Amino acid sequence: MPKNVVLLYDKLMLSHDTGQLHPERPDRLYAIQDALRCAEVPGVRWQAPKPATRKQIERIHTCDHVDQIEAFRGRAGRLDADTPLSEDSVAAAYLAAGAAIDAVDVVHKNPSESAFALVRPPGHHAERDQAMGFCLFNNIAVAAAHAVDTLGYKRVLVIDWDVHHGNGTHYSFYDRREVMVFNTHRYPFYPGTGQAKETGISNGAGYTVNVPLPPGMGDGDYKHAFETVLEPIADAYEPDLVLVSAGFDSHRLDPLGGMEVTSEGFGGLCTMVQRIADKHADGRLALILEGGYSLEGLSQSVLKCVEVLAGTPYEIDDEPSENGYAAIVRARRQLRMYWNV
Ligand SMILES: [Zn+2]
Repeated sequence: MPKNVVLLYDKLMLSHDTGQLHPERPDRLYAIQDALRCAEVPGVRWQAPKPATRKQIERIHTCDHVDQIEAFRGRAGRLDADTPLSEDSVAAAYLAAGAAIDAVDVVHKNPSESAFALVRPPGHHAERDQAMGFCLFNNIAVAAAHAVDTLGYKRVLVIDWDVHHGNGTHYSFYDRREVMVFNTHRYPFYPGTGQAKETGISNGAGYTVNVPLPPGMGDGDYKHAFETVLEPIADAYEPDLVLVSAGFDSHRLDPLGGMEVTSEGFGGLCTMVQRIADKHADGRLALILEGGYSLEGLSQSVLKCVEVLAGTPYEIDDEPSENGYAAIVRARRQLRMYWNV
């Protein structure tokens, strides 16, 4: 069924200047805009986001962390070896988190609309008290906390298909069940977390799901992980809102990821996620951009996902590889004490 798609974007996020040689660069958003504007997908509307407030950010991050980021407002610097800042980076970070919140608000007010927050800096590596891996604030975690704390959602499913483990999101909700975090990622790989045995603690035990994968995984492997792990768990959890940490660095053209997912494959994954949202959450689905460093792979994959959100599904026909199948079986074994997988 055709749906409207709201794209949250502001050109200030182009002014987060990480330097000529950095993979997380403004050209990423230029390439996405070019692809979307050329394709003219029906039902797409661009919307300028509001910056997040300090109070919204502090639902996830410590006061000290926010102070540390604020100290760089209007000036260049470096938070860690991978995370350089320019004069506008702090303002861009507040807008990126605000865009993720606005994406949730869009689908909350009107489930017949989907949203995609086209943001940088990305967020899923940012922990409570630490910026890392190109990320200042954890945009999707801030948005999920907004959904639970102010909009009253009871079961938010966060799906992270970026090639890197979303450690920041994983730890943000490690002891909470109102937000379930499903991560599939290359392992061992940066940032080093995300083994299948990391399943959450106390009230959140079982509500963190990790499917670590070896390098070289393609569309069929990701499809198999979604079919045999994500879908049965989502059917049991019955999310009332679905959010995606949409990173595209597992694309076959990506210079960092070492995976083999195609642009159409991302369309297929997005279709599977849309079906979960339709089945359980009245269609409420918002995507938040994370990584993806091949301009071609990134922009074409975002386009495929936007087409899916607008009502054109993609199907993956590939079977899993032997290595992928074995890795997914190992992850399922760890999860069986909580879920029928
Ligand atoms: Zn990544």
